[in-house]
Amino acid sequence: MPQRPDTLPEQPPPDAEARRAIAPVICYPVDALPQPDIALYSTARLQAETIECLRVPPREARAFRVKAGQFFRIACPEGSQVGDLNLFSAADPAERFFSGKTRALHGTHLSVGARMWSCFPFLRPMATITADSLAWYGTDPYGGRVHDVIGTRCDPYTHFLLSGGQEYHHCCHSNLTRALVAEGFARERAEGMVHDVLNVFMCTGFTADNGQYFMKASPARAGDFIEFFAEIDLIGVLSACPGGDCGAEHSSDAAICHPLEVQVLALPPGALEGWRPPARSGYSRSHGLLGEVPPP
Ligand SMILES: [Zn+2]
Repeated sequence: MPQRPDTLPEQPPPDAEARRAIAPVICYPVDALPQPDIALYSTARLQAETIECLRVPPREARAFRVKAGQFFRIACPEGSQVGDLNLFSAADPAERFFSGKTRALHGTHLSVGARMWSCFPFLRPMATITADSLAWYGTDPYGGRVHDVIGTRCDPYTHFLLSGGQEYHHCCHSNLTRALVAEGFARERAEGMVHDVLNVFMCTGFTADNGQYFMKASPARAGDFIEFFAEIDLIGVLSACPGGDCGAEHSSDAAICHPLEVQVLALPPGALEGWRPPARSGYSRSHGLLGEVPPP
């Protein structure tokens, strides 16, 4: 068994700079991925009509349903407001959004052309971002960008830990849980269904000195929106974060909060000629084990 050295080196090794100078490579080059047909989506979008409009009150969450081949738009109708978004397959809610793999594929923040991928063993696009009124923001001088897949969601457990034991029931985690119960899922099951989110409109990054996760006031204003194409039948759940624009704090009633709006837009028949919902991953799920693969 290797022994731990008695003393750790006080100085970096002589080739420290050479080791640091090794160029990085992209973990997952996305050129090989099946690319969304953004031109087809954009043309079809011109024919889309709003069939549902849902208001998400501040510090609450609401569920909505979108069929494959429809669009949904999340907007700030009254003022700057961050939203925490969960997605499930309507056919099988065990298939849910996979924030970590989406981040590994598309980067820490999402905009037009990026896709929201589902968890294992499904791993397919659930939604594709087709429009983003904040695409102009880019990267600010602090390294901040908009619509992150870094943060998990504000939750009452971390709040309890950091606040010396205070209870707060309107964190996004709790809002999403209540919305799933209201959608008909059993209370015992609902909390476990909540997963890491897409932080819609949230402006975040990592500090340059020690890599800490930071947030700053969202650049979203009344009228801003982000729009998605549903690749499969979806249940979406959106929380209007108690942090409001997340410029100061979350997990309390201190911040000014606004409602969010979800619009679902449908297309006339034939508008998506040749398009099919993506198939779930074709991997066998054998994992190198002998015997029959159990059902998912
Ligand atoms: Zn939140």
